[in-house]
Amino acid sequence: KNVQENEKLETVSEKNDAGGSRILVFVRLRPMAKKEREAGSRCCVRIVNRRDVYLTEFANENDYLRLKRLRGRHFTFDAAFPDSASQKEVYSTTTADLVEQVLQGRNGSVFCYGATGAGKTYTMLGTVENPGVMVLAIKDLFTKIRQRSCDGNHVVHLSYLEVYNETVRDLLSPGRPLVLREDKQGIVAAGLTQYRAYSTDEVMALLQHGNQNRTTEPTRANETSSRSHAILQVVVEYRVRDNSMNVVQRVGKLSLIDLAGSERALATDQRTLRSLEGGACNTAMIANISPSNLSFGETQNTLHWADRAKEIRTKACEAQEEIQLPECETDQAKLLLEVQKENR
Ligand code: ADP
Ligand code: MG
Repeated sequence: KNVQENEKLETVSEKNDAGGSRILVFVRLRPMAKKEREAGSRCCVRIVNRRDVYLTEFANENDYLRLKRLRGRHFTFDAAFPDSASQKEVYSTTTADLVEQVLQGRNGSVFCYGATGAGKTYTMLGTVENPGVMVLAIKDLFTKIRQRSCDGNHVVHLSYLEVYNETVRDLLSPGRPLVLREDKQGIVAAGLTQYRAYSTDEVMALLQHGNQNRTTEPTRANETSSRSHAILQVVVEYRVRDNSMNVVQRVGKLSLIDLAGSERALATDQRTLRSLEGGACNTAMIANISPSNLSFGETQNTLHWADRAKEIRTKACEAQEEIQLPECETDQAKLLLEVQKENR
């Protein structure tokens, strides 16, 4: 049985290698917030067929001009989630496949991208009642591990870190910033906590607690709150027999990334994020947007950039140099290109 299992693993990973990697691009619209409604907002976004996003209204003449100058008002993505979409739906469409791949010894990453307040942390972390992608991914991972082996072969380690103003902090064990150093595997954060997780039950509390250590806490100055990236890394190790029946160790790594607000320049350490993407990797991006016409400019920027990220996926294989990056978000564009390069 073991041998059959191994053969299956080999086939799947070969197929994936041949198919190459690409960025899947998703959009999630959040519900109108009370504050926005009280400020007299109208909804300026419409989602049709779970794929198409229309910008339907603009707040003022400037927005109208931007709309004409940029790419228009209709965008199509791998999937677009209306404000009624559940956390589970978002998880299963964007991330469940990557979890499956991690269990086959491959790497994957999921980013949330968007302006401050657009719903990135809700999507990634969620609440106790409505856990987000990070928690659902780990839950799913443990379920799948239980289904596939009863011999305790799989070992899961978590690390949760923050990149803020070019420093890296351990969210599971806050203290002094971590020191980055280069080794055979790339750039690593020395002394980062590798928390061995045995079940989902402990993970939500762990992540919530970790998040309180983030520099994004709403109690802290809003000015600084949107500059922190949070990265959850889930490393799965297991042993299989290779074709010559030798026992080999396989490692799959899933990175779940709550990026800083896109309205800020990404003055971040690209090396740090890049090193987290190392190896064969598949990437999904979730662009978060507000429905309010008062955020029209930010929403249009986010959609415009998400639309370009879609092109990187299809063009990057042949002619990466030809890609014209949107001016306003060059740093984010570079970051995604770096990730994409690593994927190839
Ligand atoms: P960001 O991390 O992008 O700055 P948040 O995730 O903190 O934004 O979201 C801002 C506010 O909107 C929070 O109060 C959050 O709970 C709420 N929110 C975001 N997305 C949703 C959603 N899909 N459903 C319900 N509430 C949401
Ligand atoms: Mg946030």
